[in-house]
This record gives sequence, C-alpha cells and structure tokens, in this order.
Amino acid sequence: MHELSLAENVIRIAETAARNAAAARVTRVRLAVGAFAHVDPDTLQFCCELAARQTLLDGAEFLVERTPGQAFCIDCKQDVALERIGFPCPQCGGFDLRVTAGDEMQVLDIAVM
Ligand SMILES: [Zn+2]
Repeated sequence: MHELSLAENVIRIAETAARNAAAARVTRVRLAVGAFAHVDPDTLQFCCELAARQTLLDGAEFLVERTPGQAFCIDCKQDVALERIGFPCPQCGGFDLRVTAGDEMQVLDIAVM
C-alpha cells in the first residue's frame, strides 16, 4: 500500500528528529499532503498509527492536513490554486496550466517530550 510506505518514511523522519533532540518520545506529528498526491488523509493517519508501534512514536497523535495544489496559468500568466488536475484555471477558464505544487507530502512539525 502506497500510504504505508509513506507512513514508514514519516516515522523514520520523526524518529531521527526525536533522537537529535534527545527526546524520549514523540507525542504529535503534523503532516501536509498535497491535493494531487493520491494519498487519502484518513488512510495515511491510520498507517502512521500502525507503523508507529514499538517506535518512539508509539501512541503519538497524527494530524494530516490537505493543502491545495498550485499551477501557473500560461494564458493569464499567474499562479492559481487548483483543486484537481484537469480542472480549468479558476481565473480565466483556460486549460494551459503547469502544475507547480501539490503532489508532495511534508512533515510540518513534530512535538516531543
Ligand atoms: Zn488563467
């Protein structure tokens, strides 16, 4: 499952950060998933909870936020927010768009104790 390998990455990143901070455990992780990332936030959250078992993140809370995608419109020459790939430019209705952001996953912040 795609979400599970992402979750394992999240755990690795958070564990490394916790070790570097000499923390005993991680209590909360906040993630952002781009609108085009083909990731279901609920599934990702569930997979993180699974992957966290027997790590420094065991029992941690995972918050997954969805961030809108972004594209540059060739027709009206501006950056626009894009809900889905294949949607027209919300400013001018054109379809000549270059996606600039929205297919990434980021660890926003990590709370440790
Ligand atoms: Zn446009």
